[in-house]
Amino acid sequence: MDKAILQRAKQEKRTLLTEVESKQVLEAAGISIVKARLAASATEAVAMAKEFGFPVVLKVASPDIVHKSDIGGVKVGLANATAVSRAYKEIMAAVKKKEPKARIHGVSVQAMAKPGVEVIVGMTKDAQFGPVLMFGLGGILVEILKDVSFRIVPLEKKDAREMIRDIKGYPVLEGYRGQPPSDVAALESLIMKVSEFVEKTPEIKELDLNPVFAYSKGAVAVDARVVLEPDAIK
Ligand code: ADP
Ligand code: MG
Repeated sequence: MDKAILQRAKQEKRTLLTEVESKQVLEAAGISIVKARLAASATEAVAMAKEFGFPVVLKVASPDIVHKSDIGGVKVGLANATAVSRAYKEIMAAVKKKEPKARIHGVSVQAMAKPGVEVIVGMTKDAQFGPVLMFGLGGILVEILKDVSFRIVPLEKKDAREMIRDIKGYPVLEGYRGQPPSDVAALESLIMKVSEFVEKTPEIKELDLNPVFAYSKGAVAVDARVVLEPDAIK
């Protein structure tokens, strides 16, 4: 676990890592993420957007906000400098209104990922079994139908294989109505890396990659949330 990130969490007395911090930690573990950088002003956000190349996405970066889009904290498809600058101000205004007490680091700036099949990979700790990984399809399939599968960490390759095929929505990943099949091998490899990472990082209490975009070639986490164990910030 990154020392500087742990240190800042300790200083701020909070267990939630921001998306930028979470992705930094995950990237170091070899997990495929959409790179995100922290901008502390509209000018900085515009400069970063130019480096990434348009269109970009801006998201509020706060250790006090779990669901960024719920409060108007995510703006996608920003096509030019004016749009980025406006989005920065709109996000700050929305946060001030909806979460006036939230501590704000700035915004996360990242490239717009091309659309893919949305899946979710998560980790929670069970009182009996310890870390458990969850896999499911994104959006309403998880929220309403609870179409998810679970395996206990550490996973073997066979577990990753099976947990993907166990969900009822698996045919969606096999391709349907002319859609190309998703890269299930890339999802298996991502799940294995998450399992290895979780196994050797006891400071982590919860992990959410939601969504991960699965493509016909590759898969990438578009959003990431890490929650630390209270002991990790003592
Ligand atoms: P939260 O879950 O905290 O509301 P997300 O980071 O998941 O925020 O963003 C909300 C939605 O915006 C995602 O589910 C995804 O559909 C879209 N989105 C977020 N980041 C990107 C990105 N880099 N490229 C394309 N779409 C994105
Ligand atoms: Mg999300």
